[in-house]
Amino acid sequence: MRPHRTYHPSLEPIIQISNLEAAHLRVLRAKIGDQVTVFNGLGLEALGQILEVTETYYTVQLEPAKTSHKEPPQHLTLAIALLKADKLSDVVRSATELGVSSIQLLLTQHSEVREIGSQKLERLRRIATEAAKQCQRNQIPDILEPVPLSSLSGAGMVAHPNSSLRPQEAVNWDVPITVVSGPEGGFSNAEIALLEQKGFLRVSLGQRILRAETAALALVASLTAAEGY
Ligand code: SAM
Repeated sequence: MRPHRTYHPSLEPIIQISNLEAAHLRVLRAKIGDQVTVFNGLGLEALGQILEVTETYYTVQLEPAKTSHKEPPQHLTLAIALLKADKLSDVVRSATELGVSSIQLLLTQHSEVREIGSQKLERLRRIATEAAKQCQRNQIPDILEPVPLSSLSGAGMVAHPNSSLRPQEAVNWDVPITVVSGPEGGFSNAEIALLEQKGFLRVSLGQRILRAETAALALVASLTAAEGY
């Protein structure tokens, strides 16, 4: 049987897994003697064995941790305008599977959602953890609190229907990359001009207008899945 996969921030020789991760192991009917792979969300994993099961926690003995590199060659940030909660959840889940290193939430002029509460942010972080667990990735992307578009920094590209450049033509894998995707209402002309001033290149995702959540994922997939990362 394949080992259960679970998340724990520390990979000491003996760990106690509690709360949501313990609840998940209970659902999987994990028992004493079962093997588990534990990942720390920062790129390391360790094989272990369950030593003890109580009502509230699992005690696991771990072998030395090792790296398992399944990341793109540079830190890849998806900067995405705030969307309705269910759409944002889908983006976080799929972008985690597609290999983004962090997700920067953005406040933009035409965003339909103007803020996100701490509970919703926590939920998105939980979704990223679950997605990393499911896709056998040991790195959990950071989900960063919303910032105004004007304070976005970095180098990269912005998805805009009015462009003939493709993401693969705009990418430079020698430096960390930020890819920017807009809200359902699109970016204003001033926002696009600001991003271009900062050095972001406009890129096209084809001839059709994609929904905001589809566009964000197509943009990431064009750089990771399409390039074998
Ligand atoms: N009327 C809006 C406009 O013209 O920008 C449409 C916005 S679209 C529903 C939401 C976001 O998805 C856009 O801001 C853009 O970032 C991205 N997007 C959608 N289709 C695209 C395409 N074909 N090429 C590049 N980006 C696209």
